[in-house]
Amino acid sequence: MKVGIFGGSFDPIHRGHIEPVKAALEALDLDRVVYLPTARPPHKPDRRMAPAWARLVMVELALLGDARLQVSAHEMTLDRPAYTVDSLEHFAREYPGSELYLLLGLDSFLELPSWRRWQELVELATPVVMARVEAAGVSNLHPELAAWVRDGRVRFVANRPVDVSATELRERLVQGQDPAPGTVPEAVVQYLRKYSLYR
Ligand code: ATP
Repeated sequence: MKVGIFGGSFDPIHRGHIEPVKAALEALDLDRVVYLPTARPPHKPDRRMAPAWARLVMVELALLGDARLQVSAHEMTLDRPAYTVDSLEHFAREYPGSELYLLLGLDSFLELPSWRRWQELVELATPVVMARVEAAGVSNLHPELAAWVRDGRVRFVANRPVDVSATELRERLVQGQDPAPGTVPEAVVQYLRKYSLYR
């Protein structure tokens, strides 16, 4: 089985978190993508961040109709900081014999060298960058990341850019405005309104 893992804060989930993932799933013929909402970092109290469980519920509401797109509470069940490398080890145990793919937005890919035990990530999963290879600016990359790209260890899946940002969405919601039409699945909009998540 080919399993994609896609971590993020999903605060809230929006179209930019869904369409590129579907494109990667199709392009790489993945059987499943597991969304992995991050726990709320205890040392970074950000009053505007919705609770982890509410972000998980929103992810599920957004993905409900697609059996291939699933959500895992793994990172929020830990009583310690969740690092991607640990989560990949967890999923390697959960899906023995499967090929793991680590789905990354371009910004996350460029930040990889600041992640814990980042050089091990590529041993555990194939990084999949949801952008064109040209966008990664290979000549300016960390030399080891550039080597991964040159050696074909990183997959790039180009997709139509989706002009939505969770930060902008939260700013609108805090001011009592609705998300721009089509940017957030309707069930998610209903849910975040029902519980006044960003007010
Ligand atoms: P914030 O504005 O809160 O930082 P974010 O969407 O960038 O939001 P995450 O929820 O952690 O933060 O994002 C998960 C992943 O989704 C990241 O790798 C990010 O690059 C990617 N992503 C976010 N928005 C888009 C978008 N519009 N198109 C493509 N990828 C996106």
